[in-house]
Amino acid sequence: MKLDLTLSTISQIREALLYTADLQENLFALARSLRNQRHASEVYPRGVIEFSNHCELNCNYCGMRKQNKNLARYRLAKLEVLNAARLIESLGVQSIMLQSGDDYSYPIIDLVEIIYLIKAETTLHIILCLGERKYSDMEKIRIAGADMYILKLETLNRNLFRKLRPGKTFDQRLKLLLFLKEIGYEISSGFIVGLPGQSIQELAEGALLLKEIGVHAASVSPFIPNDSSPLAGFPPGDLETTYNMIAVLRILLGNVLIPSVSALSMLNPEGQVRGFNAGANVITINFTPKAYTKDYLIYDSHRFIVTLKTAIETIEKAGLRSSLKDIDNIERGCSSVIHQKEELYV
Ligand code: SAH
Repeated sequence: MKLDLTLSTISQIREALLYTADLQENLFALARSLRNQRHASEVYPRGVIEFSNHCELNCNYCGMRKQNKNLARYRLAKLEVLNAARLIESLGVQSIMLQSGDDYSYPIIDLVEIIYLIKAETTLHIILCLGERKYSDMEKIRIAGADMYILKLETLNRNLFRKLRPGKTFDQRLKLLLFLKEIGYEISSGFIVGLPGQSIQELAEGALLLKEIGVHAASVSPFIPNDSSPLAGFPPGDLETTYNMIAVLRILLGNVLIPSVSALSMLNPEGQVRGFNAGANVITINFTPKAYTKDYLIYDSHRFIVTLKTAIETIEKAGLRSSLKDIDNIERGCSSVIHQKEELYV
């Protein structure tokens, strides 16, 4: 039987999301070949700095929700972010991702300054993932030099969205995403796979929506039930469906950035390698200073931290390559940076 992997209809995508065994391997092989055609087996590393865990929202799936009192709240100083950016560049990582809760009290002027200085001092591609800030703020940080904005749609189911993100709506989030594209950001979006109440049909429609919007990057993570959230005790998202979604997105979207996210490794030690086998081409390495990572709890208290070392190992295991420099290969001139790395970072 010749396998039809054109994925042009919702029902074909729905079927593909449920593939197992040989059908799944064929799906992955096609996704990998599409990735390798354009990207020549290259993985693009990103360095993430989780610079604030303050959040105004109470998303039912997220451990950083405002009502969670089981974590210490922190904001990094501008200089801490800038130092991490310097380190990231020195290690051969070309992109920096600044992530936070929906921290509307983090002064926009500070964000503008951080972005401006990173742009002035480094050649890093700047990615932001800050949630739903005001339209005028989005414009200011774009002008300061931010290149990409990540705003995941989380779930296509409008009722579920309202329940899981009290006070927010799907349509507002989509409108904001489209606005970001209009004002010149590269945009990245995606979904959480396996949220309680979510259907396969919805994921299939979501994949097509990302194609219609024309995203530059797409990201899917399996749902991880957080101990301190109202969804504690629900089962985690299905890993196989998540891998299949990665492959489906690669086939539908072609030449885009798709991360193999750390949440995959929380559910299976080989999870991120399998994400690359399914067609992913980005890995996000954590550069949040050590003292803070335990309090950045989007997932769970037992988070899996991707370090430079684990990233290099994962890329190697997946049979891919990257621009990452091993810590041993860093020039002597950067010894202060190495010192920082040992003292401050994971
Ligand atoms: N406040 C920002 C950043 C949120 S954290 C925003 O709303 O955009 C980044 C992503 O982590 C979210 O977009 C969501 O897709 C994912 N995430 C959060 N909690 C999760 C959980 N429990 N399981 C899986 N993914 C989760």
